[in-house]
Amino acid sequence: MTARLLDGNALAQSLRADFKTRAEALAARGTRPGLAVILVGEDPASQVYVRNKVNACAQAGFHSEKITYPPDVDPQVVFDRLAELNADPTIHGILVQLPLPKHFDSDAVLKAIAPAKDVDGFHAENVGALMQGHPRFIPCTPYGVMKFFADAGIDLRGKEAVVLGRSNIVGKPMAMLLLQASATVTVCHSQTRDLAFHTRRADILVAALGKARFVTADMVKPGAVVIDVGINRLPDGKLCGDVDFAGVSEVAAAITPVPGGVGPMTITMLLANTLEAAEREAG
Ligand code: NDP
Repeated sequence: MTARLLDGNALAQSLRADFKTRAEALAARGTRPGLAVILVGEDPASQVYVRNKVNACAQAGFHSEKITYPPDVDPQVVFDRLAELNADPTIHGILVQLPLPKHFDSDAVLKAIAPAKDVDGFHAENVGALMQGHPRFIPCTPYGVMKFFADAGIDLRGKEAVVLGRSNIVGKPMAMLLLQASATVTVCHSQTRDLAFHTRRADILVAALGKARFVTADMVKPGAVVIDVGINRLPDGKLCGDVDFAGVSEVAAAITPVPGGVGPMTITMLLANTLEAAEREAG
């Protein structure tokens, strides 16, 4: 392997140590950062994500509340609970674990979270603020990716950045952040013609399409920085990213692994957003 490994576990650990110190300082002034996580249904992956988020809060000295509902819960029950949490001074961040069961209007649920507590950054008001260049909450996954660049001293100005995927939670906010960092950004999706033409000219390549080992070495410009957001489960039960790590790490200058890359940073930035909300609230 020739590429520099961008180690998400190590970066997450150092950031979380800093958050713990800041949380203790805030608690000494009477405010303990608090996160409420709502889980509807019994999706096993969602259960794991929620458990990890709650555990991360405990380790950082945050208060957290896990609120669970059966899959057939009346959406009004969730809306009522959200209204209570919006008004609860011990809660600074609220997130609803997605996906929600089919009988829920997910957009309406996300809209029911107070924008000042929307630590996922999915509320239209926060999406708009990000678009205008003065974000209140940056969606956790792209926020974590930007931390890799900052930590590794990668200057994005004038670079060709190519983002694979245009979802609201990863691809679109990622593209916006890269643009704000003065990269020249191309966003690719399932209808993009000649994808490799775009990826081969990328100085910065962010793969977020959800296709196991899709990005191969011949699609990558030598010396590129490759960020692999994808999480895919292989038939043998192991996890892999959207990038063929073994091949691409021979041509890239730097690369994130899966697991141990973007994944640990996503929860870390949820803590960052919750802490920032609590710090804002405490003045
Ligand atoms: P979505 O399924 O919402 O979006 C996938 C995007 O990839 C879509 O825009 C789609 O295009 C595009 N796409 C699919 N196939 C191709 C293709 N062949 N060529 C080009 N583009 C393609 O996924 P998410 O954004 O939610 O997640 C992406 C991946 O990142 C998943 O593996 C997910 O598990 C992972 N993830 C990881 C996180 C982490 O913490 N590490 C956090 C969140 C997600 P179109 O819009 O045209 O359909």
